[in-house]
Amino acid sequence: MQSITFFVTLALTFLVFSFSLPVPLETPSTSFSDQKFAEDYLNNFYQMTNKALKNVFEEKLKEMQKFFGLIVTGHLNPSTIDIMKKPRCGVPDMADFRAFPGRPRWTRKLITYRILNFTPDLSTTDVIEAIQNAFKVWSDVTPLQFRRVSSEEADILIRFASRSHGDSFPFDGPGNILAHAFAPGSGIGGDSHFDEDEKWSKTSAGFNLFLVAAHEFGHALGLDHSNVPGALMFPTYSYVNPSKFQLSRDDIRGIQSLYGRRRK
Ligand SMILES: [Zn+2]
Ligand SMILES: [Zn+2]
Repeated sequence: MQSITFFVTLALTFLVFSFSLPVPLETPSTSFSDQKFAEDYLNNFYQMTNKALKNVFEEKLKEMQKFFGLIVTGHLNPSTIDIMKKPRCGVPDMADFRAFPGRPRWTRKLITYRILNFTPDLSTTDVIEAIQNAFKVWSDVTPLQFRRVSSEEADILIRFASRSHGDSFPFDGPGNILAHAFAPGSGIGGDSHFDEDEKWSKTSAGFNLFLVAAHEFGHALGLDHSNVPGALMFPTYSYVNPSKFQLSRDDIRGIQSLYGRRRK
């Protein structure tokens, strides 16, 4: 119910806003490449289980517009395309879930991780620090603890890779998809992959590794995408100064629903 209210509020806000602007009419000139881009986007991020639906493109597009708080038209308009072109996480969006279906989570409090390789964009120390700080975001608000190991097996394997890299989710070159991670579990569960074709940084240049890693580790711990703008678990990337970074209430509620609060 709360999320419905949220969507209505957002949709109304947008309506008021859009009436005051000369908004272009609905898709008279959607280019062929935008149409193709949108189809790929929806196939990647809005896989719908009900394939029997008559107009799959329109229904998926409505899901996407609903998720991002846009006016739900089922038509490809400029504001929808704008959001689709923002750099984002590769994990699909499933509205109405804070956790993944089935709520997979780690059952131990001490979780190990191993960094399998390093990006040439940053020094080894900077990568280790960004990863460490990204885990700290979550251990600050839960009873979880994270320990880096360098040789033995680990729960969460972290690596940088381009294009096809051994799972069924190839990266896409520079831009668009930045990274992805798998929900908790054995094997590939919890593993987090970063697209090496991005320029990784510890500043606002390119993509900030700490910010993207903190988001991916949310998935590795069991959180799905949030539709709350400003939440760390929102699917698109937006830069904030890491020294001023704070988890949103939505992220905290989500992670504490899986692991509880941090013991004092
Ligand atoms: Zn994500
Ligand atoms: Zn991967």
